[in-house]
Amino acid sequence: MSKLVVISAPSGGGKTTLCERLLRDFAGKLVLSISTTTRAPRGREQNGVEYHFVSKAEFEKGIQDHRFAEWALVHGNYYGTSRTVIEKCFEQGKSVLLDIDVQGAESLRKAYPRECFRIFIAPPSLAHLESRLRHRGTDSEETIQKRLKNARDEMEHAPRFDRIVVNDQLDHAYAELKEVVSHLLTEKNG
Ligand code: ADP
Ligand code: 5GP
Repeated sequence: MSKLVVISAPSGGGKTTLCERLLRDFAGKLVLSISTTTRAPRGREQNGVEYHFVSKAEFEKGIQDHRFAEWALVHGNYYGTSRTVIEKCFEQGKSVLLDIDVQGAESLRKAYPRECFRIFIAPPSLAHLESRLRHRGTDSEETIQKRLKNARDEMEHAPRFDRIVVNDQLDHAYAELKEVVSHLLTEKNG
């Protein structure tokens, strides 16, 4: 059965790094859902690769046309998951990997209760998170502060997830995550 493997983490938690590895190891079985957003591209991000970058007006039209399986306002920008991408993957018997925020994870749980499995990637501490955000070097001080404030709120949602993986040492966190996903994708009916 196709699954929705939902990964949430505070910004800087290591989602992107871990998701890239999952996509490599489960190529052909797991497809990344590329979200649509109104935020500006960061660093070397390209339209259609990391995100579909659209205007606020375009996004709002998408909401009206029910093009999103879920959408949310995150850090002041819109982000949404395409309904068509999910449906196409399901038709092809593939599973979908989604890197979305805690609001989106909750919406998908309600919309796809049988398919959805939610994994929260937690940083070892907020101090680690701050240092990783600074080290990444892609965000302004104001953005970092906003993301840290949101991280405190997001961490409170962790207990509601199906699984929590602490991203302390990257290889250990990945091994744990890979085992969870491997188990999910080989389940017959569950
Ligand atoms: P997110 O997608 O959740 O915002 P990233 O995957 O971009 O997070 O990771 C943020 C930064 O932290 C990146 O520079 C990444 O290389 C680094 N990072 C990720 N996991 C770890 C880890 N376990 N230990 C140290 N640095 C990490
Ligand atoms: P960033 O701007 O750092 O790429 O992402 C900011 C936050 O938006 C992250 O928590 C990310 O998981 C979340 N996000 C990305 N795409 C979506 C989406 O389609 N829906 C929701 N609800 N959140 C998303």
